[in-house]
Amino acid sequence: MYLGSHVSFDSKEQLLKSVKDAISYNANTFMFYTGAPQNTNRCIIDDNKIKLAYNLMKENGIDLNKVICHAPYIINLANDLDPSKYDFSINFLKQEVNRVNKMGVKYLVLHPGSSVGIERSKALLNISNAINMVLSDNCDVMILLETMAGKGTECGINLDEIKTIIDNIKLKDKIGVCLDTCHLNDSGIDISMFDYYLDEFDKVIGIDKIKCIHINDSKNSISSHKDRHENIGFGTIGFTNLINVIYNKRLESVPKILETPFVGENKEFPPYKFEIEMIKNKEFDNNLIEKIIKYYK
Ligand code: FE
Ligand code: FE
Ligand code: ZN
Repeated sequence: MYLGSHVSFDSKEQLLKSVKDAISYNANTFMFYTGAPQNTNRCIIDDNKIKLAYNLMKENGIDLNKVICHAPYIINLANDLDPSKYDFSINFLKQEVNRVNKMGVKYLVLHPGSSVGIERSKALLNISNAINMVLSDNCDVMILLETMAGKGTECGINLDEIKTIIDNIKLKDKIGVCLDTCHLNDSGIDISMFDYYLDEFDKVIGIDKIKCIHINDSKNSISSHKDRHENIGFGTIGFTNLINVIYNKRLESVPKILETPFVGENKEFPPYKFEIEMIKNKEFDNNLIEKIIKYYK
């Protein structure tokens, strides 16, 4: 099983910092942003830091082929009402793909975008066109479209929309999908019937397109279209349903990434070390949050 979490990445240590975080959580994979997810300030990738990160990964059994990068939220490929903003998103994504490629990371998760004021079908086409401008044969990075909760005018909120985007992408071997259990729940999928969803997914898109799964519980009920993550077992999806996703035989080789919220009064403590342990034990711990706070204090 490949189980990890969102980790930090700083301008000083870069990927090395991410690997150190992952190891401290006893994870064997991880997901990082190349800078703050909310902005586009990015540092120049340092080859030396990459080498140090690789060495540490090797020592700790972390497979680079299972490592995930997440593109910043502010990229919006769906709306082209302001051509300069659309172009900015495309160009930034191009640079991001190059950064990820330089680090040897294979997968870049992307929120498809929000249509805000334009027709849905046009928005989906804009996303495909933009991705076509970004992907190239001489780059090894695959873009993973994340399934979204349907907050506001988000695109990619059901299988038909994801399929439509993929259908219009030219380099089919460079496009995949990242499921997010919180987003699925909030978009209207019953996670307790996850195998039915996988059957549907396989029929419409093909199960082999799933290259990453974000494992999150949800603060809100099914079909709420909210997108607020909750710690594993403390939300509306529940521990057993999430365990069934994580240990699903059909998704054995797919990396599972926790994006659950930090805990403590000021949300300062990462829960991942303890959530990973609880998942490995397959037993829900009602006192998990208190344990985490005690450990870091
Ligand atoms: Fe995401
Ligand atoms: Fe996610
Ligand atoms: Zn989310």
